[in-house]
Amino acid sequence: MADDFDHLSPLAKNVLFNEGTERPFTSELLDEKRAGTYACAACGNPLFHSSQKFDSGTGWPSFDDPIDGTIETKGDYKLGVPRTEYHCADCGGHLGHIFEDGPTDTGQRYCNNGAALKFIPDKEPNLKGTVTAYFAGGCFWCIETDIELLDGVRDVTSGYSGGSAESANYDAITTGKTKHREAIKVAYNPNLISYQELVTQFMKHIDPFDAGGQQYDRGYQYTTAIYTQNEEEAKIAQDTLDVIAKTHNLKREIATVIEPYKNFYKAEEHHQDYSTKSPTNYKRYRKGSGRDAALKKIWGE
Ligand SMILES: [Zn+2]
Repeated sequence: MADDFDHLSPLAKNVLFNEGTERPFTSELLDEKRAGTYACAACGNPLFHSSQKFDSGTGWPSFDDPIDGTIETKGDYKLGVPRTEYHCADCGGHLGHIFEDGPTDTGQRYCNNGAALKFIPDKEPNLKGTVTAYFAGGCFWCIETDIELLDGVRDVTSGYSGGSAESANYDAITTGKTKHREAIKVAYNPNLISYQELVTQFMKHIDPFDAGGQQYDRGYQYTTAIYTQNEEEAKIAQDTLDVIAKTHNLKREIATVIEPYKNFYKAEEHHQDYSTKSPTNYKRYRKGSGRDAALKKIWGE
């Protein structure tokens, strides 16, 4: 396999295809602070965004989350203690190990060999790189799928917002008593899609007049919200809702709330990219939920 990758250094080949480990504090990517993408050095698969990188102090480039669907994992017992190894989903190249001691809301630390990565800076380094936005739009299987299709959106993660970390799991939340909503975290490039456009598109993928959930899914956990992280976002969100209220000359009030962002807990792995992981179930659910029919009534095509 390594023969296909003549452009790689001997160290990179050893890490990627011999499960080697580089010496700590040797990677030049440790000090890389620019906005951009960390891709697989062998095949170019985009694995992480700069927004997912943090300084772990371990001597290896560290990330709190990968770009959805770009890595795969397996158990590794080489050191006698079970560890989770991860590798590139496209070429199988070995990248590093995952540890459950991350300092951010994902709780994870992807400890990656720098030699297995290639950094690609964003084209316009003076402008902001990837930023995040948070929304609750009913069933996260659906809203994740819809928002991920927008140009400029790099990655959407399904999760839960509001409530407390202890009860942020699907079983607890479906009772509706934990005061979480099913929510999404959207990583987007503001050079390609503005926050205002993102909010507008989000609204067109929900029923903003439904105060008790979304279509077939009833209860607090399915109500809709825009979680804003600063005053600028709050103003844009309010202006967007005002425009919709004016242009939709309906008797019903807009039920979507604007709330300050508080937290986001990533949902269980099987809920991520549900529409591609479980396409049959997803299609049946989507049709049965009446979501598309309801949205078409409100927004037209
Ligand atoms: Zn690869």
